[in-house]
Amino acid sequence: MIGILLIGPPGAGKGTQAALLAIRYSIPAISTGDIFRKNVADETPLGVEAKGYMDRGEYVPDSLTNALVKDRLSQSDVLNGFLLDGYPRTLDQVEKLDEFLAQSGTKLDVVVQLTADREELVSRLANRAEQQGRTDDTPEVIRKRQTIYEQQTAPLIDVYASRSLVAKVDGLGEVNVVTARISEVLNARGLSEDA
Ligand code: ADP
Repeated sequence: MIGILLIGPPGAGKGTQAALLAIRYSIPAISTGDIFRKNVADETPLGVEAKGYMDRGEYVPDSLTNALVKDRLSQSDVLNGFLLDGYPRTLDQVEKLDEFLAQSGTKLDVVVQLTADREELVSRLANRAEQQGRTDDTPEVIRKRQTIYEQQTAPLIDVYASRSLVAKVDGLGEVNVVTARISEVLNARGLSEDA
């Protein structure tokens, strides 16, 4: 049982690392952004509701997001552990996640804070805009997402630091080098690949 949370600004590489770590540690990567995008593509009621917020670079309301994660965490594949990418992002979501984990008798082992300087983030997001055509990767919406991250999500790092859960990892460099850095901090906390 291993509980990992990835936190960092838009473009830090959370999604990329989450996918690789999920394979390495045999745990599901739970990305609220991916789940929302899938729902938008499928035009589900949740997707229809979430789309406007996402396109504006705003957070989807906590009530919707928390319900989605509660449901996802109740599925059987999380019994071995889980990796959360992009959740929680608000203090309300932190509280709800605490409740969900307590109810299922699980806990977070580590919060990996991925860092990258602003210049790098802007250029990565511009590349992603070209490659993936995400509707929220326009310069204006990117700026909005960065501001909202600083205001609403960055403070979560202090909350988890006060629980001694935060491991800061440099997100600059090649993808596999960053993955190796993350594995190192997980190993240092006694979280091995066959845990
Ligand atoms: P990024 O980390 O690059 O901003 P994500 O794919 O994680 O991209 O998220 C895309 C969008 O999905 C966010 O801008 C937001 O609208 C919505 N979203 C994802 N996770 C959450 C969350 N935990 N709370 C509220 N909204 C979220």
